[in-house]
Amino acid sequence: MSQLAQHPQPTASLPEPAARAAGLTKVYGKGDARVTALDGVSVDFPRGRFTAVMGPSGSGKSTLMHCLAGLDTATSGSARIGGTELSSLTERQLTNLRRDKVGFVFQGFNLLPTLTALENITLPLRIAGRRPDAKWLEVVVATVGLAGRLEHRPAELSGGQQQRVAVARALVSRPDIVFADEPTGNLDSRSGAEILGFLRDSVRELGQTVVMVTHDPVAAAHADRVVFLADGRVVDELYGPTSGAVLDRMLRFEAQGHTG
Ligand code: ADP
Ligand code: MG
Repeated sequence: MSQLAQHPQPTASLPEPAARAAGLTKVYGKGDARVTALDGVSVDFPRGRFTAVMGPSGSGKSTLMHCLAGLDTATSGSARIGGTELSSLTERQLTNLRRDKVGFVFQGFNLLPTLTALENITLPLRIAGRRPDAKWLEVVVATVGLAGRLEHRPAELSGGQQQRVAVARALVSRPDIVFADEPTGNLDSRSGAEILGFLRDSVRELGQTVVMVTHDPVAAAHADRVVFLADGRVVDELYGPTSGAVLDRMLRFEAQGHTG
C-alpha cells in the first residue's frame, strides 16, 4: 500500500468521512442506449455510522456503491475512500484499495463453494498475503454467530448462514467501509433480521462504517440515516429513521412520480 499512503490527507477540521461522492456522474452506453445512472451525486458516509440507501429500481443505488467501492469507474466527479480519490489510482492501486479498505456484501452471497466457511472468511486476507488476526477473527465469527459452523461448506449452510459468512468475510480485514447491496434480498425475514442485527452490531460494537442498499423500510430502520436516490440523484435523507417514517417518504416520492 505504499503508493496509496503517498496520497496526502486533507487537513480540514471536520473529520474525514469514510467515503464521499462529490458531483459523481456515471453514464452507461452511447446514443440511444445512453443511460445516466448517476447524475451529480454528492453524499458523505461518516465513519462509524450505518447508512441505508434507498430508491426505486434503477435509481442508481448499485452504481453508487460500485463507483465508491472501486468496482466501477465514474464518468465524472469525485469518489473518495477516506482521503483517496479513486480516479487518481492505477488499476493496481484500485485492486489494493478494494482489498485493503473496502468490504462488500452482495445479495447473492458470492461464496466459493469448495471452501469451508472459515476458508471463505479468510480468503481475502490470504490473497493479500496477510495472516488473519486470531483474536479479531474470533470476535467477528462470534459477532455473526458462526462458531461451530466454520468447517461447513456453503452448500451445507442455510442462506442466512451463508450471508453471515459473507458478512464475516467483509469485516475480517477491518476495512474502512463495508458496502452491502441488498444483503437481505435473498433471505427470509428472520434470517434477514439477523443479518441486519449483525451489520448494526458491527457499527455499534466494532466501530465499523456500513452503507447498505435496501428496498425494505424495516431494514432501513436499523440504520442511523437513510439517503434516498431517484433518477440518479440524491432527493432526500432521514436521520434516526423509523420504518413508518421511511415508508411515508417512499409513498410521497411515488406520489411525486419518482417511480423508476
Ligand atoms: P439500482 O441499483 O438502484 O436498481 P442501478 O445502479 O443498478 O440501479 O442502475 C441504474 C441505471 O443504470 C439503470 O437504468 C440501469 O439499467 C443502468 N445500468 C446499470 N448498470 C449498467 C450497465 N452495466 N450497462 C448499462 N446500463 C446499466
Ligand atoms: Mg441495485
